[in-house]
Amino acid sequence: METFASGSLYVAPSLMAALDALDEGGSEAAPFAGGTWIMRAPIRHEPLKSRYVAIGKIPELHAIKIDVGEVEIGAAVTHAALAAALAEISEFDVLTAAAGRSANPAIRGMATIGGNLATTAFAAADCVPALLCLDADVEIASRGGPERTSMEQFLRMRSTLAPGRLLQRIIVPRRGRKTVHARLPLRQAGDYPTAIVSLAVSIDDAERVQTARVAVGSVEPVARRWERLEAALVGRPLNAARAAEAAAGLADKFTGRDSADVPAWYRARVLPGLVRRAVAALGS
Ligand SMILES: Cc1cc2nc3c(=O)[nH]c(=O)nc-3n(C[C@H](O)[C@H](O)[C@H](O)COP(=O)(O)OP(=O)(O)OC[C@H]3O[C@@H](n4cnc5c(N)ncnc54)[C@H](O)[C@@H]3O)c2cc1C
Repeated sequence: METFASGSLYVAPSLMAALDALDEGGSEAAPFAGGTWIMRAPIRHEPLKSRYVAIGKIPELHAIKIDVGEVEIGAAVTHAALAAALAEISEFDVLTAAAGRSANPAIRGMATIGGNLATTAFAAADCVPALLCLDADVEIASRGGPERTSMEQFLRMRSTLAPGRLLQRIIVPRRGRKTVHARLPLRQAGDYPTAIVSLAVSIDDAERVQTARVAVGSVEPVARRWERLEAALVGRPLNAARAAEAAAGLADKFTGRDSADVPAWYRARVLPGLVRRAVAALGS
């Protein structure tokens, strides 16, 4: 029996009901979370799916569980709720800023972290580089059971996620690192960022960088780690000018994406400045 007809929105009361409906709808169906990306499909001249499964009423997808070793974030947690929940935990400054400074307050009250990660065509998603630098994993739900994978693997597979599956939660390890999110909007707050640098470092007793994660968003179609810059930071004291100099020597490894408002070359050109700003914000 059909749960929902073509051209409709089915409000799933539970995770299992959502998975059943997505499974039934196959490639014609997709999750509907905050709707901030889906509702703008006509502006982007993109077709809508013929069936949507609203996941906003599923209690476990709104949960944020903060433990000693890790934090679990349900996929339907909004940017605003996430920023509020993590505000006092300094090791997650990068994620608090990513969720709490993206878009504008009205959007942040609707947009979800799951939608942010699952939107394949959204290069400027703030939470993606933030979670890459935090070494996050994601859990994907299906009727066959949950499957856990790394953020990096999820970014490679998300465009081919089989019908009937959805992002259920994000798991972020707690490693007591210093973290920061630096974004460059084109003109003003509320704009999509031209480029993003997310940074997480641990510092040893001699004040040298022990581990470093740098992730870059919005420059290329998909955010990724900047491993050569990470290697350049490790073993030395954090220093904003030196980090920016290293970034300038390595920025040509990025192939900027072109768009109507920002030329491709500009996105890579601003990276050293963003790296300088990020490191300086950590107090070095
Ligand atoms: C004007 C404007 C400016 C914005 N600026 C920014 C910005 O600067 N930075 C930023 O990060 N965000 C920004 N956003 C928000 C952005 O749209 C959202 O962060 C996010 O990409 C969509 O989240 P959503 O919950 O609204 O997803 P939806 O619109 O509901 O869904 C988006 C896509 O994800 C899929 N999806 C949703 N949830 C799941 C799930 N759990 N599992 C699998 N697939 C799922 C849907 O099927 C759909 O394909 C902006 C939005 C607007 C309208």
